[in-house]
This record gives sequence, structure tokens and C-alpha cells, in this order.
Amino acid sequence: MPIDFTMPPNVMEIRDRVRAFIKDEIEPKEAEMHKTNAWREGITELRRKARKSGLWCPHMPPEFGGMGLGPMAMAMVSAECGRNRIASFVLNCQAPDEGNMHTMLHFATPEQKEKYLRPLCDGKVRSCFAMTEPEVAGSDPTQICTNAVKDGDNWVINGHKWFISGAHGAKFAIVIAKTDPDADPPQARNSAFFVDLPNPGFAIVRDIDTMAGKGNHCEVKLENCVVPASAMLGPRGQGHTLGQVRLGPARLAHCMRWIGNAEVALEMLVKRAMERKVQGGLLVDKQAIQFMMSESAMELYTAKLMVLHAAYLIENQLPFRQEVSMAKHHVANMLWKITDRAVQVHGALGYSTDTPLESMLRHARSARLVDGADEVHMTQIARHVIDAFKRDGTTRAATGGENLL
Ligand SMILES: Cc1cc2nc3c(=O)[nH]c(=O)nc-3n(C[C@H](O)[C@H](O)[C@H](O)COP(=O)(O)OP(=O)(O)OC[C@H]3O[C@@H](n4cnc5c(N)ncnc54)[C@H](O)[C@@H]3O)c2cc1C
Repeated sequence: MPIDFTMPPNVMEIRDRVRAFIKDEIEPKEAEMHKTNAWREGITELRRKARKSGLWCPHMPPEFGGMGLGPMAMAMVSAECGRNRIASFVLNCQAPDEGNMHTMLHFATPEQKEKYLRPLCDGKVRSCFAMTEPEVAGSDPTQICTNAVKDGDNWVINGHKWFISGAHGAKFAIVIAKTDPDADPPQARNSAFFVDLPNPGFAIVRDIDTMAGKGNHCEVKLENCVVPASAMLGPRGQGHTLGQVRLGPARLAHCMRWIGNAEVALEMLVKRAMERKVQGGLLVDKQAIQFMMSESAMELYTAKLMVLHAAYLIENQLPFRQEVSMAKHHVANMLWKITDRAVQVHGALGYSTDTPLESMLRHARSARLVDGADEVHMTQIARHVIDAFKRDGTTRAATGGENLL
């Protein structure tokens, strides 16, 4: 059986509609909003139009007002959205809400779905996900210090979180806290809770100033934050599992968007090279610049194949951790390298704030940290390689699986 790379016609049709919507609706409105500064009104109008056009909440099932797309079709949609700064938000499939929606669909009770998931899918509210803490390594969630202690019918949460994306303005947070400090293995010590916001026990200390500016990645203090027993999301002690379940598809969703970001950077590189004269010729004719293009093209192509294969595995409920880790590492580094090359080809202009490239480069840097730092994925990937070899006498299972080649 040959591998068929043809996408179903309905998926291509949706991809084309998203592409057209971004070009015809979002881009002109965005240009207008840059002049008028009327972002809130403009985005609200765009979201209304997206919904009317049937391009709303693409990753959620129709019962929650979504398009019911699986991970492969979402790869197409998200890569398109990655080409524009606000497109994911306009379609209501932005991080961290998108990951939170998946988590709730998987773990929430029917009552929790009505209270939290439905308004999020309706675009009426936003959410955040609070796991990382300044005092302990985010790469090792078993060290989480934030604790939740049972008090009658309630839980009382105390702790310190940071880099909580979207916390300002969120209507609720999903907070990971330690409920069972003595549980063995340590992965069974944490649980997840809904915290309604604003909340006297959940104080936003600051919007952290990052190398990409203030992006609503907040430092948060939880002090005697009281939530009812019904606020627990998923079973007690399953906070770690919930994080893993959430992060698989969420990591891949980031990768899909980063493909769109990198495509824009490469197109800017090529355009500039075609225009810029140097030593009697154009940059585009210089081999050194052509090699930048070919390396970028190969890295982007590899990224697309890796993301699609990992999406296929998730869609078909096959083991996906190794492939998602490899895709996450590759795509994050590909984005960094291609954006950096685009800056290089633009010369001083690339270093200036006259083009979006410097901002794209500063934003791209976080890709190698969020959803598992490079080294964490490398460690995981190597572990799978070693295990596969020990088990099978070949590394095949850890390099895309038996079905690939
Ligand atoms: C823009 C942005 C948005 C974010 N949004 C959220 C959010 O919404 N919610 C949330 O909870 N968190 C969020 N985070 C936090 C993010 O998940 C953490 O930064 C990440 O998990 C790494 O944790 P850390 O920063 O504590 O780094 P550490 O765990 O302290 O790691 C530091 C470095 O050590 C190295 N390292 C780590 N482990 C290993 C290892 N096993 N072997 C070798 N080297 C290793 C890596 O180089 C790593 O970069 C966000 C971060 C950023 C930058």
C-alpha cells in the first residue's frame, strides 16, 4: 500500500476558506485597527464574521459550536492561522484556550462542561492554565509546591505561579496543585482545579515583561484560595496525567502555528533577496543566500511532514509521544533558524523595528522553552531510542514507527 498524501477535499476546502478569510477579512481589518487602535471592537466584529462564515472553534465538536476537525485537518487550519498574529484568536482556537478546551472535553464532568467549556467555546470568556512556578523547575512538575488542602467540602489552595498566559481577563484558571504529597509515584501527587476569576484568593502580581514585551504572561499568588470539591478537574492525583494529555495535542497545535510563522519569514527572506542589489547583482542570485533558502525549505518541509505524521498518530489513537516530542523540538528550532536567516538577509533593516522580523525573532525564542524545553524533549527522545533498541534490537519504533519505513 503506498502512503497517500492527498488530503480529503473537504479539508482542502476548509483550508482555502480559512486562507481567504484571513486575506479578505482579517488582514484589511488589522491594517485599519493599527490606524484606529479600535482593537476590541474590530476583533469582536471579526469573531462575529468568523462564526457566521462557519469558521469557528474548528477543533471542537459541533455540540459545542465547533467544526469538529481532527488533528490533521487542524494542522491545515492552524498553519494558515500562524501566518497572522490574530487569526487564531478570531477563530477561537488560540492558546491556552484551545488546550484547555481539549482538556475539559476529555476530563470535565457534564456540569463542568456547561459551566466552563461551553462559554469558552462560545467565545464569551477566556481561560488560563496555571502550572509553572518560579521556585521549582517547570520541566519537572513533580516538584510543584502549590498545595491544595481539604477543608470540609472545600479545597484551600496556596502557592505561587508564573508565566500564566492569558491570566489577565480570564474568567477561570485551571490550576495544578499538590493534593497528595506522600503519593508514590510522585506523578500521582498533583490534581487540577477550576478557579473562578476574579477571585480574592488569586492575585495577579504582574504581567511579566519578557524579551517580547508584556504578553499577558502573569505572575500569580494563590493565598487561601477556596474552591468547592466539585471544582476538581479529572480524578484526584491525576494532575500530571492531565498535563500530559493536554500537552500532546497542545504542543502540536503550537507547531502547526509555528509552521505558518516560519513560512512568512521565509517569504520575506526571498522577497528581500529578489529586490536587494549588491555588487552588480541581486542577493537572490548569490549562492550563500540561495543556501539559506534551501536549508529553510528543507527544514520547513521536514517540519510539515513531522507535524502531519504526529497529527495522524493522535487522530488514529496510536502512541504519539515520541513523534510529538521530535516534531516539537524540530519545529521550534526550525522557526528560530528561518526567522534568524530572514533577519540576516534584511541586514540592518532586519535588526530595526521597521519590519515585523525582529518581533517575530523575539517571539520565536520562546518556542524552544514552552511546552517542554529543547533538552527535555531530547532526553525523552533518546530514552525512547534506547528502549526501542533494548526491546526490539532496532531503533525503528523510535524513529517514526514500523509503518513508516
Ligand atoms: C511565553 C511563555 C508562556 C508560558 N505560558 C505558560 C502557561 O500558560 N502556563 C504555565 O503553567 N506555564 C507557562 N510557561 C512556562 C513554561 O511551561 C516553562 O517555562 C517550561 O516548562 C520550563 O520550565 P522553567 O521555565 O521552570 O525552566 P526549568 O525547568 O528551570 O529549565 C531551565 C532549563 O534547564 C534545562 N533543562 C531542563 N530540564 C532538563 C533536563 N532534564 N536535562 C537537561 N537540561 C534540562 C533546559 O535548557 C531548560 O530550558 C510559559 C513560558 C513562556 C516562556
